[in-house]
Amino acid sequence: MPIKPLRGGEPIPLDSPDDVAALVGHLSRGDREPAWLGTHFAYLAGTRPEWFQPHQETVIADPRLLARLDLSFADLRVLFDGASDRCVELLYRRLRDRWSFGEAWALSAIGTDAALVAIADDVRQGGDREVYEESGIWIPPAGPAEYRFTPHRQVITLEAGDFPAADHPVGLPLDRVVRDPSTSPVSWHYLSLRLADIPGLPAWPATHAHLIGLNSWCMWTLFAEVDSDGRYEAEQAVFEDETDDEIGGDPTTGRAVLRPYGPDLLYCNGHVDLTPGVVGTVGGPPLGIYPNPSCPSCKRLMFHTATVSHHIREYGDGWRSLYLCEDCHTVAVTATGWN
Ligand SMILES: [Zn+2]
Repeated sequence: MPIKPLRGGEPIPLDSPDDVAALVGHLSRGDREPAWLGTHFAYLAGTRPEWFQPHQETVIADPRLLARLDLSFADLRVLFDGASDRCVELLYRRLRDRWSFGEAWALSAIGTDAALVAIADDVRQGGDREVYEESGIWIPPAGPAEYRFTPHRQVITLEAGDFPAADHPVGLPLDRVVRDPSTSPVSWHYLSLRLADIPGLPAWPATHAHLIGLNSWCMWTLFAEVDSDGRYEAEQAVFEDETDDEIGGDPTTGRAVLRPYGPDLLYCNGHVDLTPGVVGTVGGPPLGIYPNPSCPSCKRLMFHTATVSHHIREYGDGWRSLYLCEDCHTVAVTATGWN
């Protein structure tokens, strides 16, 4: 059984629409622990989200049910994807009546034209812009809100070994990813991603973009421009926690393989990160609990591309996320703590 709740008892099967109706019954009655429910709904989001579609309106219409749905924004997004305009209206009305984070997340998850118009209206009427931006949603000065991520998400798995010509290499020499390693603040290479393998990304002038590290454990942002080979140049590092010590790393190399979500992953504690070999995700929204970078040039919220744990190639501590501004050809890599 790939569903492994840490608390709340044995899992139930989710092998048919009737099983999903039984799970929604538990949500309605509130007779199971939120973490138990969350792990089941994460599995449903990763396997057969279409079976949840008949229940979208039931859950959204009842604030108590919505409050019990203890999920990551990434999973909520899959489950509420394309919910009806009536759902949008219900959420918008509740937000205007009494603004709350949970309703804003639910509205953010829907992703239809009506939902994106409602988000922009909400922010222009005083709703909390930061909550939307943390979920990867940008509200421009005029017009509807925009998703700054692709809804097509995949997991990243790591295979150790020597694969310098891999599509998604792990552990390249720094001169392959930055134009001038002698002056660059970049001190580590985690992963280069071939962007053509990530559906829904904006156009980009290079084949690959790079997740790199700086000599700091956590909480930093690197902005860079790209040269014609896709290497980083004009790097600007912003540190929240600076360290004078050299942080050590594990120089193992390997390759990343992108895999779809599905029933072969291990769903535990509401996520798949405990699946052997899984080290992150490409596509999907950002983590949703930290500010996401805005482009230093045009100020647009940057496009979230991938998030990996430092375990992909041990160096520093926490999550490393990659963002693009397709208009300015600028990248950002951020380092944040565990959520
Ligand atoms: Zn820009």
